[in-house]
Amino acid sequence: MINRIKQLETLALPLEPDAQGRARLLESILAYGDAFLEALPDLPAYQANDAGGRALYDAPISDEGADLQTLLDLLKQHVDRAGLNSASAGHLGFIPGGGLYHAALGDYLAAVTNRYAGVFFASPGAVRMENMLLRWMGGIVGYPDTLAGNLTSGGSLANLIGIVTARDAHGLQAEAIRQAVVYMTAHVHHSVDKALRIAGLRGCVKRIIRVDNHYRMNANALAEAIAQDKQAGWQPWLVVASAGTTNTGSVDPLLDIGQISQAEGLWLHVDGAYGAFFALTEMGRAVLKGLELSDSIVMDPHKTLFLPWGSGAVLVKDRQKLLEAHHYGADYMQDTLALAEELSPADCSPELTKPFRGLRLWLPLKLLGVAPFRAALEEKLLLARIFYDRIQAIDGFEVGPYPDLSVVTYRYVPRRGDADAFNRQIIKHIHQEGRVFLTSTMVDDKFVLRLAVGSFRTHLDTIELALDRLAQAVKVLGESG
Ligand SMILES: *Cc1c(COP(=O)(O)O)cnc(C)c1O
Repeated sequence: MINRIKQLETLALPLEPDAQGRARLLESILAYGDAFLEALPDLPAYQANDAGGRALYDAPISDEGADLQTLLDLLKQHVDRAGLNSASAGHLGFIPGGGLYHAALGDYLAAVTNRYAGVFFASPGAVRMENMLLRWMGGIVGYPDTLAGNLTSGGSLANLIGIVTARDAHGLQAEAIRQAVVYMTAHVHHSVDKALRIAGLRGCVKRIIRVDNHYRMNANALAEAIAQDKQAGWQPWLVVASAGTTNTGSVDPLLDIGQISQAEGLWLHVDGAYGAFFALTEMGRAVLKGLELSDSIVMDPHKTLFLPWGSGAVLVKDRQKLLEAHHYGADYMQDTLALAEELSPADCSPELTKPFRGLRLWLPLKLLGVAPFRAALEEKLLLARIFYDRIQAIDGFEVGPYPDLSVVTYRYVPRRGDADAFNRQIIKHIHQEGRVFLTSTMVDDKFVLRLAVGSFRTHLDTIELALDRLAQAVKVLGESG
């Protein structure tokens, strides 16, 4: 048996490269990353390629290893050359972010050191770093330091945590669910619906509150709906407000909604996955007034703090409520209980083991300071306004409401024919061309185009390129403009 153990040890040796081996690997990896970043300004923002990634199936996982250069070539040809280039300045669709290099380096160190960030006992430093970052975010949105929260993988998980906390805070279960009423607008992100369903709350009554002509929740209509529901014997429970809808970038009137929710004893959950970090800017703070009245809030560092994908956050004002909804113990973890000085992420989310997510956020924030983030966010707000002004100056384009944040909706109205069909052709043309990436949506049953400014790499030249490509698309598609 000893011989076999020794033999296996030798066979497993490749798992631990020595210093020279590490240096060789790192050199190739760094070169790949650098070449990508150097080429980035000239790479398409979108590459339509249905075959993308299929060749990976021809190189299955097997017992023998391959050399790194071959694998990097596979990555380049079959992953990095297909679909949406999220790192591109020209990513102006959905909600972009970009992917800060400093954060990638934080990920590298987090993975190399493999700190166990789920439990305070295992890594008090990693947990304190996470809790400190959450308190910093709380400061941005006006929450007291007694908050608790969680660094999640994204906004969807963060919404789920918020809604589960709200559910348990109101003791909602079994029969009571059918009497409970949730209030939201038709523009709420679909991850909220998904969270309600996963949380076993599909049976709740959903009241879709009407919006004004800026697609913001009508607060009076909310108050009326709650009053009517109470009178009719329903149990109003939760209001979900959007601090920046994905669809149009509209911010619900948070101050009014907050006051109504407090007066009526409803939990207010704000989905600020896209918009909450704009509160770092003066312009954003004015639009987002009232964030602090919420009971829970979601914000996505992988959107408006420009981190690589994989970072969302949820904050809950009353830490006890978050804990009650998520804390669990296990016999095999009894050693971890003695040191419970700080809240552990495992007690605040569905996760137990989690990556050391804080480092990818802490490193860029500490290295660079907050100032460049604040500047980039204000720049995004202004770029959206410039686009809004300039697109309507191009003959034939009409715009939606003035942007609350950094999303603009607009469309081309052709002299003849169906506007929806024509805009569908524009977006198809823009995707095929790939210079910039724009998306479309439905607003008031109309097919409209969107521009979402969100990447730290997007500057005035990108906006001018987008305007140019849109004007060009109209020409190519047979309108002289
Ligand atoms: C992106 C987004 C979400 C979902 O967040 P993920 O990070 O994609 O899971 C939720 N709400 C809003 C408003 C968003 O923009």
